Amino acid sequence: MSSAKELNYPHILIQYQNGFLVSKVMFTACELGVFDLLQESKEKLSSKAIAECLRSGLPGMERLLDACVGLKLLEVDVSKEGAFYCNTEISEQFLTKSSPKSQYHTCMYYSKTIYPCWQYLTEAVREGKNQYERAFGISSKAVFEALYRSEEEMLKFMYGLNAIWSLCGRDVIAAFDLSPFTMICDLGGGAGALAQECVSLYPDCTVTIFDLPKVIQTAKKHFVSLEKHQINFYEGDFFKDPLPEAELYILARILHDWSDENCVQLLTKVQKSCKTGGGVLLIETLLNEDKRGPLESQLYSLNMLVHTEGKERSPAEYSKLLTASGFKEIEIKKSGKLYDAILGRK
Ligand code: SAM
Repeated sequence: MSSAKELNYPHILIQYQNGFLVSKVMFTACELGVFDLLQESKEKLSSKAIAECLRSGLPGMERLLDACVGLKLLEVDVSKEGAFYCNTEISEQFLTKSSPKSQYHTCMYYSKTIYPCWQYLTEAVREGKNQYERAFGISSKAVFEALYRSEEEMLKFMYGLNAIWSLCGRDVIAAFDLSPFTMICDLGGGAGALAQECVSLYPDCTVTIFDLPKVIQTAKKHFVSLEKHQINFYEGDFFKDPLPEAELYILARILHDWSDENCVQLLTKVQKSCKTGGGVLLIETLLNEDKRGPLESQLYSLNMLVHTEGKERSPAEYSKLLTASGFKEIEIKKSGKLYDAILGRK
């Protein structure tokens, strides 16, 4: 017979089972525009008013709003006239579209792209490869062709990835004193949030954002003001085309997309293009050396499995890749936030 202790269903299991329900409540409230409406309205709104404005049925909206209250994403005042809702500080700052620290686009990317892929985590673990084919019916051989399968998907990806740097971009760019480097190239710089952080912290530098041609065109159109004269653009494929000369190459969330072989191939090319005395700055989430944490990095590493050809790595693993590519004097700075910085010298 089981003991009473064993029969007590552990609370932690209930939390884990419900983890994705919690995510979906937040994503759905974002997608329907609940937080934006409450921000714009400036006064508390009833569930009926919210449902009407957002063209949603009332019973479902009432449940969604109350679940958001349970998650501390909304506050409610209940009086004789009914229940009236407003944003909490968290949703106002991070989930409304217009906030400078908005994570709205990240939530949308998680909801529409990451979530469907994670339905095939079992297959990803069994097969050791990404699940684009099962989730979206597209070949997964060329990861970024699959990721950028339409302009809409590419924009979603770029907005989604850019958002995190409004929270911790300054920390990673300030982790080392980069002021000696005046010619910087942000390889795979995407929508340019880190390049903008760089020129604002180091006014004497110029940053060239290098990325695939359609990403560069989208960055110019939607993300980076062309009046920022310290920022240049360079279209190319970093595996096939020559790299622009620079004193420092930033690779933020690049190596985690690729196998060790591809990483060494790319870093060797970077090392050859780098000016003497220059270096490379890797910005990645770091696993502990024993791989037993942090949990976020472990989860992100599984995310890389379902989505890419890469994985998250420990500081020693990144040092090994850098050393194999000819970099020396490798230093690691943990930012205490989601992403950390590793500097290697030529
Ligand atoms: N560095 C940005 C950041 O941290 O927000 C974006 C990181 S994203 C995970 C990877 C970036 O690498 C994308 O912008 C993608 O377009 C770019 N990329 C992928 N393959 C590339 C290639 N072969 N040549 C140039 N850029 C590439």
